[in-house]
Amino acid sequence: MAAGLTLLSLSLSLIFSSALAAAPYCLPGDSCFPSAKELSSFNTTVGGRLVKSVPYGAVCYAGATYDAEKCATLVANFVTDEFRLEISDALMYTNWEVTEDGTGCPVPQDITLTPVNGTCSYGNLASYIVEVASTQDIVNSVKFVAKHNLRFRIKNTGHDYAGRSSGAGSFTIRTHHLQGTSFIPAFVPDGCKATPEPALMAEAGVSVHGLYAAADGFNRTTIGGIGRTVGALGGYILGGGTGIFSHRNGLGVDNVLQFEVVTADGKLRTVNRCQNSDLFWALRGGGGTFGVTTRAWLKSHPPLKATNAVTGTLVSNSTETWDSVVRTFVDQLPALFEKGITGEWIASYPYLVCAPYNPQFMLTHALLQGHHFPATFRAGRDARFSRRLPLYFRHAYLHPGSDQRSQR
Ligand SMILES: Cc1cc2nc3c(=O)[nH]c(=O)nc-3n(C[C@H](O)[C@H](O)[C@H](O)COP(=O)(O)OP(=O)(O)OC[C@H]3O[C@@H](n4cnc5c(N)ncnc54)[C@H](O)[C@@H]3O)c2cc1C
Repeated sequence: MAAGLTLLSLSLSLIFSSALAAAPYCLPGDSCFPSAKELSSFNTTVGGRLVKSVPYGAVCYAGATYDAEKCATLVANFVTDEFRLEISDALMYTNWEVTEDGTGCPVPQDITLTPVNGTCSYGNLASYIVEVASTQDIVNSVKFVAKHNLRFRIKNTGHDYAGRSSGAGSFTIRTHHLQGTSFIPAFVPDGCKATPEPALMAEAGVSVHGLYAAADGFNRTTIGGIGRTVGALGGYILGGGTGIFSHRNGLGVDNVLQFEVVTADGKLRTVNRCQNSDLFWALRGGGGTFGVTTRAWLKSHPPLKATNAVTGTLVSNSTETWDSVVRTFVDQLPALFEKGITGEWIASYPYLVCAPYNPQFMLTHALLQGHHFPATFRAGRDARFSRRLPLYFRHAYLHPGSDQRSQR
């Protein structure tokens, strides 16, 4: 057993699909996979933070891994993002935790079905996880992965809709512990000649909510999405990043002044418009393909002094009226944006939900400063009155610098 390595003695199945068996990686069990001695030696370079993963669902399976208390907690909190976020190997969407041929360690959502008398296998979950705590841990991990040709994954929150933050037999780095933030009043990207501007620095594991909270603490506003637990510096910003103030402040990628990235050769690179500019272009929308982002410096904006908000749900009584209200609403969006109205909306029959602000989320973070006066419009049983939408949305104007109160 590798010194300092968390290895549990379990009868977990190591089953990889035939397609994966032909993959060009060294997977656990392959003769080319690093030996226990090599793993142990690597572990010392990352401060003992290499973990031989155990499928988190194993606590609900009959046998040596069964733990009634832990299983009950797991089942009770199974759909809570904040709870899942703290589980090293869990993904937010459990369909990505099993392989195409159905192997994995699924957790029943009914406690009476536990302990499960079945096989718990890794499925699509990581085999090894490095709980990185520094940029140097990432550099060392990338070098180790490249040297041994391992199946590498970067996991931040596990929110990815396409399941890209996990993989069968993968050697994963988890960025969740990198939570540093700071405010730089006069930032100039390294190597650039530019007018200094206020910037926020955030490390790779900072969540959308964490970024808002940090900006709030510095009395600034910043970009971000709507999901609290989504990572602000991972898939969100690397994939583009939309937010309710995008039409005002741009997409997430428009707000990046500089990245710090570890590329596949294990080199730590400063990436901005003045150096490694091709990589800067690629990272702003190209996803996690080009390297591991360790930190980013983001534009920060002055706080809004006041906003008005409207939230509400229109309920249609037929697919025809729902279709009509959604069409009318979408047709009006450009004009609404022109007036400074912004927000989130969801159209799912029979509903059109307009929720510019999720009060639980928004009240405490940096999007809002000063007063907040939510006004709620009535849910309609018949959405044909959708022609009146502009009336309702009059109250959702943004008035930076003013103290505009809702008139409802
Ligand atoms: C509830 C919810 C609300 C959302 N709201 C919005 C929204 O308002 N606006 C919006 O634009 N998107 C939104 N999204 C989409 C979200 O931005 C993507 O799902 C994103 O990929 C999640 O990134 P993550 O880092 O949290 O997740 P992860 O699953 O951990 O990572 C996603 C991808 O990014 C890679 N990655 C993560 N960290 C790094 C890193 N440091 N370096 C390189 N690659 C990395 C991973 O390998 C993976 O490929 C939402 C998603 C959810 C589930």
